[in-house]
Amino acid sequence: MAGLINSEDIATVKARTSIEDVVREYVTLRSAGPGSLKGLCPFHDEKTPSFNIRPAVGAWHCFGCSEGGDVISFVQKVDHLTFSEAVERLAQKLGMELRYEDGQRPREEGLGRRTRLVEAHRVAQEFYADALINLPAARAGRDFMRARGFDGAVAKHFGVGFAPRGGEDLVRHLRDKGFSDDEIVTGGLAGRGSRGLYDRFRGRLVWPIRDITGDTVGFGARRLFDDDRIEAKYLNTSETPIYKKSTVLYGLDLAKKTISKERRAVVVEGYTDVMACHLAGIENAVATCGTAFGADHIKVLRRMMRDEADLAPARVIFTFDGDAAGQKAAMRAFADDQKWASQSFVAVEKSGKDPCELRQAGGDPAVQALIEDAVPMFEFAVRTTIKRFDLSTAEGRIQAARAVAPIVASIRDQSLRPEYTREVSGMLGLDVEQVAREVSRAGRLKVDDEPRDARDRRDSSGDDAEPVAGEGDSGMPAPDRRDPVVMAERQLLQVILQFPNVFAPGALDMLTPDAFSAPAHRAVFDGIRIAHASSETSSVRAWTSAVTEAAPSPVAGLVSELAVDTLPTRMDAVTGLPTSRYVDELFNRVRTIALTRQIADALSEMRRIEHSDEPAPDRSRELGLHLQTLQRELATIKAGMV
Ligand SMILES: [Zn+2]
Repeated sequence: MAGLINSEDIATVKARTSIEDVVREYVTLRSAGPGSLKGLCPFHDEKTPSFNIRPAVGAWHCFGCSEGGDVISFVQKVDHLTFSEAVERLAQKLGMELRYEDGQRPREEGLGRRTRLVEAHRVAQEFYADALINLPAARAGRDFMRARGFDGAVAKHFGVGFAPRGGEDLVRHLRDKGFSDDEIVTGGLAGRGSRGLYDRFRGRLVWPIRDITGDTVGFGARRLFDDDRIEAKYLNTSETPIYKKSTVLYGLDLAKKTISKERRAVVVEGYTDVMACHLAGIENAVATCGTAFGADHIKVLRRMMRDEADLAPARVIFTFDGDAAGQKAAMRAFADDQKWASQSFVAVEKSGKDPCELRQAGGDPAVQALIEDAVPMFEFAVRTTIKRFDLSTAEGRIQAARAVAPIVASIRDQSLRPEYTREVSGMLGLDVEQVAREVSRAGRLKVDDEPRDARDRRDSSGDDAEPVAGEGDSGMPAPDRRDPVVMAERQLLQVILQFPNVFAPGALDMLTPDAFSAPAHRAVFDGIRIAHASSETSSVRAWTSAVTEAAPSPVAGLVSELAVDTLPTRMDAVTGLPTSRYVDELFNRVRTIALTRQIADALSEMRRIEHSDEPAPDRSRELGLHLQTLQRELATIKAGMV
């Protein structure tokens, strides 16, 4: 049974894992005030960071899509794992052996599937790498590498290997290591034929494709032998539970630090190009694996580069083959995403050499020069189009203007059009007005050609659209954050969740749920009361988890939000905690509101009794005493507040 991990072990995993380190594998973070970090959310598209973590509390929350939780839920969501799989994965990274409820190590098939598939890939990668060094038959592979200037150390660094020609060598090896046929096939390492399993890659040079955390999740394999029955020069792992070609980028595990530091990425076309670039010092190079660069790849890079609205634009440089197919790819990428296009650059070598060939011919400086000479994607698209026309004649220039106009007209950001129009007129030697006329005509044609509903669809599905935060499925109205009373409640709950130790013992017992006017806040406070009564609050992380568990599930997101959101106050310079003055003020404010409300309730009941036909002297006396107590307490607080 995979679900029954010892609960102490789960707590230990949570306590020992740094949520910051884990999140940084996926999201580039920067400071968001004391004790808090933020970045672009991995769970929804955005250009301004609203994904926050608070490492001391062990919590994360996105203010854009309202997702939130602890380090385990983060790993679950980001890698599509079950709870057990996420815990197992984190435990594995900590080198921790988990205990399961029956006191036994889990049987092998009880381990999470992802963990098993990743492990099978790790074993396969080692197997291939050994084969490249040791097998006589791998000589063709070694020659291939050497011919491209890659020695043994380079092969080792990139994990390059050789898939034996036999057809069942890897299958046998994996079975020996305890992997089931089902796992081997599901992982895409073998196919199932009429005579049993056969190796997916045979007689090929193989590159391990790793996900962003460095786990090998698939392979790319290059043809080496003329008698290879599969014609394709490159084969890739097909889609598996752990390999999604639309998001995977070869080399990202090695490039991510540089990409996030320089906010620049270089996209090349092949595995050898990535290797050549990295060796030439261009350590932000990645490649897609057997698929065109697409929208999901853009998302992955954007998160790495902090492609945020308020920063200088991040840059992506594409190196396309100089041939027609490569140019087409560039034009498509340009058409796909306008915002992206304005930050995209294209590096094309005139002779059509790719980075690997360039390095063989001209060494590292040639590769560096290629990247440095990149031109804006727009310019590239325009130049490629113009090249088809004879600009020495007036007729040719006009035709070129007409051909280029749709490119300019397709720039959705209208503010950029005049600048590009000017540029095109310069390239063609035409009046700006003349080009502008063509552009506006092309724009009209384009819009009129498109069916209306398609236009509407496109407009409404723009990637700027962000889900509305804070309402919806909770079944409780979102607290109104324009209301100062609600804001005081919110801050008090934040302090309780983030800094439970600033309160004097017993202080929290003085608060009652009715002190909170927003129903969602009341529900969170219910969770706090239950957790407070039942836990010994060993650490802030354990405290936050306990509250999350105790609170009604509709407000789980709110709990993580409150645990993560930065308090709008300056922390004490010495202790790093909110000042006692700030805490007291919040506490007294919320307490005052509760008292005022209780007093009003009591007064109203008294008035109802006075106007009623039935006298109720006992209840009147009781209410009178109650009122006195409340008013005395209120007076004390008010006296203290001055
Ligand atoms: Zn989000």
